[in-house]
Amino acid sequence: MMNIVLFGPPGAGKGTQAQKLVEKYALRHVSTGDIIRGEIKAGTALGRSVESYIQKGELAPDALVINIIADYLERNCADCPGIIFDGFPRTTVQAEQFDRMLADHNMKVDMMLSLEVPEDELVERLLLRGSTSGRADDANQTVIRNRIHVYNAQTAIVTDYYAAQDKYVAVNGLGAIDEIFARLCDRIDRHL
Ligand code: ADP
Repeated sequence: MMNIVLFGPPGAGKGTQAQKLVEKYALRHVSTGDIIRGEIKAGTALGRSVESYIQKGELAPDALVINIIADYLERNCADCPGIIFDGFPRTTVQAEQFDRMLADHNMKVDMMLSLEVPEDELVERLLLRGSTSGRADDANQTVIRNRIHVYNAQTAIVTDYYAAQDKYVAVNGLGAIDEIFARLCDRIDRHL
């Protein structure tokens, strides 16, 4: 069983690469962003409570996101081949709590794969994605800049948490999708 934190700023390509990794390694994939968007679309109480954060490009509250993952683990950790966590943890508080939750299920994070992409490229990619994805938070340059600002201010530091456990692996996120995928696979294969 191999549990991977797929990490990187907004627009780094986590979702795209997660899908390919899921296929190749028969892992499961959980994206807190996808779950939150699903809740908003369905108009649930949870969705309504986070909508304003997402629209501004702010993070959802830690407790709420931690609950989403706790719930996911309850439902999915039995006989699971391994999970790719995409977009979680995004703060050190989330990372600490995550370790405790995993330990309760006799699980652990094996590695953090961090896609590194320069900021100008991120903005370009997100604007492009916004023109086709229908994601409101991708369509507006101010919201995009804020998401990157929030990433730099609150999320980037999570790499220190995993570096301290010797689990942080930086991967160049520039290039063709398949090139980046090959880099990720190489790091995973070395770990297996
Ligand atoms: P991206 O990384 O491309 O910005 P995501 O789909 O991962 O997109 O997340 C979309 C939004 O959902 C984030 O901007 C944030 O508001 C919220 N979100 C997702 N995951 C978390 C998390 N772990 N903690 C707090 N907020 C989150």
